[in-house]
Parts: sequence; C-alpha cells; structure tokens
Amino acid sequence: MFKLAELIRTHTDELAALVTKEQGKTLADARGDVFRGLEVVEAACGVGTHLQGEHLENVSTDIDTYTLRQPLGVCAGIAPFNFPAMIPLWMFPLALATGNTYVLKPSERVPSAAVRLAELAMQAGVPPGVLNIVHGAHDAVNFLTSAPEVQAVSFVGGDPAGKHVAQRCAANGKRFQCNLGAKNHAVVLPDAHPRATAAALVGAAFGAAGQRCMALSVAVFVGDCSAVVEEMKSLTKGLVLGDGAAEGTDVGPVISDRSQARILNLISSSVAHGATLAVDGQEAVAKLPPRLRGGSFVGPTVLTGVTQDSPAYGTEVFGPVLLCMQASTLEAALEIVNASPYGNGAAIFTQNGSAARQFVSQVTCGQVGVNIPIPVAMPYFSFTGWKGSFNGALHFYGKQGVEFFTRTKTVTASWKAVDSVKKQRAQTSFPTSKPV
Ligand code: NAD
Repeated sequence: MFKLAELIRTHTDELAALVTKEQGKTLADARGDVFRGLEVVEAACGVGTHLQGEHLENVSTDIDTYTLRQPLGVCAGIAPFNFPAMIPLWMFPLALATGNTYVLKPSERVPSAAVRLAELAMQAGVPPGVLNIVHGAHDAVNFLTSAPEVQAVSFVGGDPAGKHVAQRCAANGKRFQCNLGAKNHAVVLPDAHPRATAAALVGAAFGAAGQRCMALSVAVFVGDCSAVVEEMKSLTKGLVLGDGAAEGTDVGPVISDRSQARILNLISSSVAHGATLAVDGQEAVAKLPPRLRGGSFVGPTVLTGVTQDSPAYGTEVFGPVLLCMQASTLEAALEIVNASPYGNGAAIFTQNGSAARQFVSQVTCGQVGVNIPIPVAMPYFSFTGWKGSFNGALHFYGKQGVEFFTRTKTVTASWKAVDSVKKQRAQTSFPTSKPV
C-alpha cells in the first residue's frame, strides 16, 4: 500500500490527464479526483489497527476467548463515470489491505484511469490474479452480482442500477454497499458572510459541471439573503466554460449529448413551471470558441423561485444547475431539506452557532457541512450517505469499510493444566461459565 500510494502520487498528472480526456472535467479537478483517492490508499496503509481483534482472558477456568478479523475472499466493485480515479480507489485498496482479492468493473464510459491504477498496483507488488479489471456494462454487472465466488459487492452510481445491484446481491446472499443518487441542499441564513458563502455555493454547484454526488444542487435562502444571491450570480457569470484540458477553464462539458439534452430539458421545463432563469447558461455556451461548439456543454445556470414541484427539483439533475428556493425560517428550510428522499449531504451557512447546532442535530442527512459546501470527510471517517443515497449496512472506507471487507471469527480456547485434563469427565449439560 505504501508503494502504491507513492506511485499514485508520482503519476498524479498522468492519471489526471486520462480522467480529463475521457470524462471532460478540468485538469485541476481531475488532480483532486486522484488526490482524494490517494487519501484512501494512505488510510489503508494504517489498516492494521482496525484489524485488531478483542481478547478476554479466563472467561472460565483456563479458557480464553478472542476474535480474529479475516478477509471475505473475492470482492467486486462497480464504479460510475464521474470520479474515474477516486471511486475505484474507494474500493480495491482497502479490500486488498484487508486480505481480499478484487474484481473491479470501471464505468464503460471512463475505463482508462482504473486500468492505469491497476497497472500501478501490480508495479507496487500486488501479485498477479489478486486485482482484476473487467470491462463491460449490464452483463458484467449481472455476472458479478450472481457469481458464487464473489462474497461482497461495492457499487457507486445511479438509483436504477444501484437498486438492481442491491436486489441481486440480497437474492444471491452477498454483502453489498451501494452509494446512490443525491440532491444536496445548502441552507443560507441572512447572517452568512455574502462573499464567502457565494463563492462556496458557486464552487460546489458548478465544479465538475455539477456531476458530483456531493455537488450542491439546491440553495435554500432563509429570509433576506439578497447580498449572497447577487454575489452568487456575478461569480457564476464569471466562470469560464470550455475544454477541461485548457488552462483557465472552470467548467468542462457534461458526460454525453444525452445528458446535455436531459439537463436542458429540465431547465426549460422548470422555467415553464414558474422558475426564473437568474443566470442563463446559454450565454456561456455562446462564448465557446468555434472548435468546441457542438460539444456536450451546459453553461452554469442559476434558477430562482424554484418550488418542490419544479421538474428540476423532483429529480437528480447531475449537471451545472443551481436551484434556489426561499424559506421564511430555519425550521421551514429544514422541512424542505428533510422531505428530500435523498440524504447524501447538506450544509448550513451562518455565523450563528446555535442555529448551526440545531441544523446539525435535526437534518436527516449523513454528511453535514457548517460553512463547508462539500462535507466529504477525510477517509479515517466513512462516507455516510443516508436515506435514498445509500443502500446497505456498512459504508465505504474508514472503520465501516474495514468491517465491510472482513468477517469476525470468535475463538474460545481451553488450555488446561495437565493435572486437571487427566481428571476430565464428560459433561452432557449445556456448558456455562459457572459450575451448575
Ligand atoms: P450509472 O448507474 O449509470 O452507472 C454506474 C455503474 O452501473 C456503471 O459501472 C454501469 O456500467 C452500471 N450500470 C448502469 N446501468 C446498469 C443496469 N441497468 N444494470 C446493471 N449495471 C448498470 O451511474 P453513472 O451515470 O455512471 O454515475 C452517476 C450517478 O452516480 C449519479 O446518480 C450520482 O449521484 C451517482 N454517484 C453517487 C455517489 C455516492 O457516493 N453517493 C458517488 C458518485 C456518483
């Protein structure tokens, strides 16, 4: 693991270039994609402490009980398109560090970074056959979720595929952890710092062209937040849309023409439903250089006056669109956030500690930010999405990740003194720790 971490570090630019070439995100963002994955590898280097068992001496005379954490065997991972390096690195390093072998199926849309990571793992000393990459789409997924050799499946992706994977794993007796879709809200109180809050909202909404499971999709403004809204509109208009590989680009294309058409349709139908186009992404598209016209671009878009029945609110947009809503109180904002079927992340922006504390306590989301727009913790913690954003029992990485990839063996051992063994009698009553 140490060697793999070192190799990923020294190959970051090469891996980032592969990500940008296939996925379209900017090079700076692609470096972040590699780096957040590298952090999981670094955490996996210290896995020994979490693999330690428990030991109780003399549970009965001359009898000790202890636990071992052992690997499951063959584990498999199914990855999405949006983090071609980070999400494979959520999966196989910890599986290998805990003693398993692995079959990884990267997204068929962005396979190269995963292949390069596997080559680096081999270079780091992973023996042949221990880490395997299979390509494909539905058939490969169906094979991995039914093969009797596979003991556990990690999935990250959209709701339909994730539900399908969870159902197949449950039916076939496999462990599973499925990270699914999201709709992440930020609640902004009137005392929030206008510039810092606007910068946080814009970065988190439009980074990776909004194609992050922790992207900020909805801002709920409580009372008069006009200073934040004005700053936010102006920062959004200043973003440069373009080629992810070009210096100075802030927002690249979305993954496909199909995705582009779906996002544009959600924008126009939400406007038809009463939302206001406060920043029209088409203006950024119109500024694209001729060689990029016709690409799968959606300009950063801000919709205000959005309601819970707006088409873009009712589904995961997964594009560079920030939906803005209004609430009269923090409690009303919490009601909106908590009514969402998703629970990946939520954030509050305020300078009021007691309001922040109330939000942290009452919001029904698994990852919460206070003046932090994308609250994905360091991988010593786990990635703890709630509600419709997760299906399974144990989350990715951290202590829960170690539990996911291992099973506990509880050993009760008797090493009696030689004299007492000689006098041993057969006992037919159920053994207890006390003489009956
Ligand atoms: P996707 O569901 O289309 O694909 C994910 C994986 O499932 C791919 O490997 C794909 O080959 C496979 N797949 C797709 N449809 C399938 C089907 N019908 N049967 C069997 N296998 C199938 O997801 P995507 O478009 O690649 O990624 C975007 C989605 O991933 C978004 O919904 C996003 O929120 C989600 N995501 C979630 C997290 C998280 O941690 N919660 C992280 C990243 C992405």
